[in-house]
Amino acid sequence: MIWESMIGHREQMRRFARMAQRQKIPSTFLFAGPEGIGKRLFAHGLAEFLLCPQRDADAAAACGRCFFCRQVQTLNHPDLLIVEKPADKNALPIELFVGDREHRSQTGLCRDIRIKPQSGSRKFAIIDDADYLNIESANVLLKTLEEPPPHAIIILIGTSPQRQLSTILSRSQLINFAPLSPDELTKLLERSADLESPIASADLALAAGGSVKVARQLADPKVYEFRQTWLEQLSSLDPGQDDFAAAIVKFAETGAKEAATKRENLYFVGDQGIVFYRQLLNRLTGFPIEGDAILLEAIENAAGRWTQPATQVAWAIERLTDFQSHIELNANPQNAIEPLLADLRHIAAGHTPAAIEI
Ligand SMILES: [Zn+2]
Repeated sequence: MIWESMIGHREQMRRFARMAQRQKIPSTFLFAGPEGIGKRLFAHGLAEFLLCPQRDADAAAACGRCFFCRQVQTLNHPDLLIVEKPADKNALPIELFVGDREHRSQTGLCRDIRIKPQSGSRKFAIIDDADYLNIESANVLLKTLEEPPPHAIIILIGTSPQRQLSTILSRSQLINFAPLSPDELTKLLERSADLESPIASADLALAAGGSVKVARQLADPKVYEFRQTWLEQLSSLDPGQDDFAAAIVKFAETGAKEAATKRENLYFVGDQGIVFYRQLLNRLTGFPIEGDAILLEAIENAAGRWTQPATQVAWAIERLTDFQSHIELNANPQNAIEPLLADLRHIAAGHTPAAIEI
């Protein structure tokens, strides 16, 4: 039983159970929330729940044992279609939706979802990485969303509604997912048999801000240590000392045989920076701050040094978001990091960064 094995997101489970009881399930959903908190697993669980003939709607539970449940668990159910961004691509290619040029509309998710369900009355499509729909993929998908077959349930998984075209958004029911609480995340990490780390699960959970993915990255002591140095550099308001730009490039290339891993490492650098400035903004405007001891100390140090209006912090967040979009386009880390650090220094000194296109 996929849902039962999950930690957190109970309210969303109950919400779907109520829809199933009333037999009123919209055809398209957008699951939105930070990366690495279990949205995709939740979608698998939803497929298991709705495709199981012996489900218990009151308990929001599939039986977990029948032939169909096992097919969903092993991702072999004929009525469960899944697409995701290939690791070596920057977008969800149109081929995944309507087939390649030679086979247009003969294969792909938009065709497959129209074919009658084989085992029951529903057919499921899970579109992971929906943040990465490009214009052509979004347009072909939109045709399906405009007139979905009556048996179809289509789930887009992304981080935020802002990343979707308004035409897609207006046809989707938005389901928000919150980050896991530190307690939920600690429990989950303690249960993960494959996770080995000298760092205590509770410390990882606090540092990871509710994301399983980040907690797993931080479980590597090298990554944990790098984060600490990065936060110290940021808290000095003068990031880049001691040749830290080179240290970031080296970190990006650690264990990165593939471009995708390098991108992920750089994304992590951006994410940690964004978390830092968000908390700094909270601290400067009197809102509560959250995080582990390392982050809290960095925020206190930075707040003591910060001399600009609090609104200036928003520029740093914007600049890091901009850095992340460049990384998605495969920017060379060396070329991206130096200007980033320089802009963060300028922002702390009261300037508006020129590189941000707004
Ligand atoms: Zn079942």
